[in-house]
Amino acid sequence: MQYPMSDSSSYSDAFIPPDALHREEALLAPYAMRTRWSRGRRHQEVEHPYRTPYQRDRDRIVHSAAFRRLMYKTQVLVNDYGDEHRTRMTHTLEVAQISRTIARQLGLNEDLTEAIALAHDLGHPPFGHAGEYALDDCMANHGGYEHNRFGLRLVETLESRYPGFPGLNLTWEVRESMAYHSKRPESPEVKEYLVAGQPFLEAQLVDAADSLAYDCHDLDDALSAGLIELDDLNGVGFVRRAREDLRQRFGDLSREQVQPALVRTLIDWQVNDLLQQTRQNLAAHGVRSAEDIRRAPELVAGQGSEIHGLKAELEELLHREVYRHYRVARMTNKAQRVLRMLFDEFRRTPTALPPRFARRIPESGLEQTICDYVASMTDRSAQDEYLRLFHPYESV
Ligand code: MG
Repeated sequence: MQYPMSDSSSYSDAFIPPDALHREEALLAPYAMRTRWSRGRRHQEVEHPYRTPYQRDRDRIVHSAAFRRLMYKTQVLVNDYGDEHRTRMTHTLEVAQISRTIARQLGLNEDLTEAIALAHDLGHPPFGHAGEYALDDCMANHGGYEHNRFGLRLVETLESRYPGFPGLNLTWEVRESMAYHSKRPESPEVKEYLVAGQPFLEAQLVDAADSLAYDCHDLDDALSAGLIELDDLNGVGFVRRAREDLRQRFGDLSREQVQPALVRTLIDWQVNDLLQQTRQNLAAHGVRSAEDIRRAPELVAGQGSEIHGLKAELEELLHREVYRHYRVARMTNKAQRVLRMLFDEFRRTPTALPPRFARRIPESGLEQTICDYVASMTDRSAQDEYLRLFHPYESV
């Protein structure tokens, strides 16, 4: 069985497992994305007899090397803080499960939602945003670097798993969801996807879930790592309210009990508010179809104004006290130096690149190839590579 389609056509019902189609019609809201509306894959291929294309996208992402590398990529804190803080991988899993809960409540396509969530941070370089700034600097005269665009490059070109095509050959919708966050919308590889109006609702909600997840878990990690204390948070309205709510429900909780309960409360409030506000927006914009979402004058998924304000105040504190904490700043500086030195060293000595990257130089150019290699690294492999290249007694 083969899909007679490419990016420019859509799936025909005949090529989708029929029970999946029936299930979608029975369960999905009218504004949810249907598998049969997908703009399909870039390269034609035989589809699976009982997994829909979006289920298959999800599986391809989970089985990719880029996904496994998320395990050793920084979210905010690097590994020297211990074993229990979030990594890019656990952040991604939290976003996926929160997004699925919301998708099911709204009658959206859960398979598509899950695939988008699992792919949303694939393009992050080592050392989080610090690494992104460093690489963007290194690439200043060669198109720059930005993680969403690199995520697209990974799934379209750099992943190598299938004999018939480069990349993962994901459906248009998952690729579009990666493109629409890009801060370089004018670049050709991104522009191609920004043609359909607003993002579909599944993509919008993953974005909102991403934001609520990292606010809460960055707070949790910062408390656990001792970067901030619970009492530092008395001035933050969101936290004050949550602690008051907990006191009323449970009386006096111990320090150990307060922290997880606080984080749970903040997630719950935001998820409930997101559901309520999104339903209101759907009604206010008279949304009756997925096309209405595309044509809406603004994003339909979002927090209400009260929670939005409380969230902004919490984010302000995280920026001030956590992301700019002196211990985080030290690591940030070190990380940027490591990536710059790696980049410069490979530029001076391209023969030191591993063959599977060196082979790409004629097609991609030297700088883009180095960027592909360095951005694909984890924190751990970047540190190891640094030692191999610069430490006199490290084996190469
Ligand atoms: Mg994220």
